[in-house]
Amino acid sequence: MAKAGDKVKVFYKKETIEGVLMPEEDSKFIFVKLDSGYNIGLKKSLVKKIDVVKVKKSVKSKSKKIASKKGLPKISILNTGGTITSKVDYSTGAVTAKFTPEEVLELFPAVRNIANIDAVMVRNIMSENMRFDHYNLMAKAVEKEVKKGVSGVIIAHGTDTLHYSSAALSFALEGINIPVVFVGSQRSSDRPSTDSLVNLVSATMFITQTKYKGVFLCMHENNSDNTCIVSSGTKVRKMHTSRRDAFRPINTPPVAIIDYEKKKIKKIAKEKKAVGKFQLKLFNPKLKVGMFKFHTNIYAEQLEPYKKFDALLLEAFALGQAQIIKQDAFMTENMKIGKLVKELARKMPVAVASQCIYGRIDMNVYSEGRELQKLGVIGNYTDMTPETAFIKLAWLLSNHKKNVRKLFSENIRGEISERSEKEGFLV
Ligand code: GLU
Repeated sequence: MAKAGDKVKVFYKKETIEGVLMPEEDSKFIFVKLDSGYNIGLKKSLVKKIDVVKVKKSVKSKSKKIASKKGLPKISILNTGGTITSKVDYSTGAVTAKFTPEEVLELFPAVRNIANIDAVMVRNIMSENMRFDHYNLMAKAVEKEVKKGVSGVIIAHGTDTLHYSSAALSFALEGINIPVVFVGSQRSSDRPSTDSLVNLVSATMFITQTKYKGVFLCMHENNSDNTCIVSSGTKVRKMHTSRRDAFRPINTPPVAIIDYEKKKIKKIAKEKKAVGKFQLKLFNPKLKVGMFKFHTNIYAEQLEPYKKFDALLLEAFALGQAQIIKQDAFMTENMKIGKLVKELARKMPVAVASQCIYGRIDMNVYSEGRELQKLGVIGNYTDMTPETAFIKLAWLLSNHKKNVRKLFSENIRGEISERSEKEGFLV
């Protein structure tokens, strides 16, 4: 009987399909990895016969060095960890931690015909453990690849904080003159239902077939497996815990749509040249920047610990409101909250982003917003996600300490849209 990892020939309906049998994920289907790396599901009831062509070797064979193909662009893939590059050996249960070009091509064979790949292991961590130090590490690793003259860099990353990292590198890689594309995956590369191949190949197509420069994120457009959305690194967010199309562009249309199946790219944003000289503008890893979410029935003492911080991002309600005005006798706490916000804003930059995620801050609509501005809270008229706003605060404090309050509300890396367009909502 054929086992996971065996090379098989499946007699299915009127076809014969050859590939590697994948571990069972659904009792009604078998999954076969084709030579392109693409996994297909075949209904068990329609399978006539499975022949084993080659039994999986139990000793891991050393992958052969792969010669580069003439005329193909060079792309470097930096691995930082997460599901996208995780690979389990089903005979031993071990997770592979090495990351060589040969192993990348073994996981993603379809890349072979698009680009010559180099692979660098930067870290192998879960993305929730990312710190400012890791952003600096990634930025330096990108700089190294830029110096080698690559056409683009792909960063494989866990999905949970992918949008924090894409924002961080958007700021840290000032004037970047190549595309740097983050990819993640919601299902690991060795699972039949993986989304990693399509995400990674689409990122490769984006790099080789367009002239975009900057930092981007490339993930599934919907729950089927044929198109990806490329979003700007500063205007994107994980909006679902588990769906393949969890990453959505926020307050802006996508940069491009990659049709993986038809091998076509629909360019939506303009392909702009890089501005200025490429240089690293890193994060000060010692900074303490907080994020505080306002909610109902709040107490002023919840804000007390931030007195020891360097900056604070307030996730306020809707247009930029918080409880700092007393409307009835139950609200005595509001006066204390206002006093504390004022004290914090005197000591450090205190900025605002909206809990709504979509839309723009307008603190001139309600008296609470106007009052917050009087207390020194910055960020009026911005439309950044709270995560991008948090990263921007930290980056400004690291690189433009004297100008944080002014620059926070100015567009530096496409993080603030000029206009609010309807195409920016629920894309
Ligand atoms: N917490 C993990 C991470 O973000 C989940 C795995 C993944 O999404 O890649 O790294």
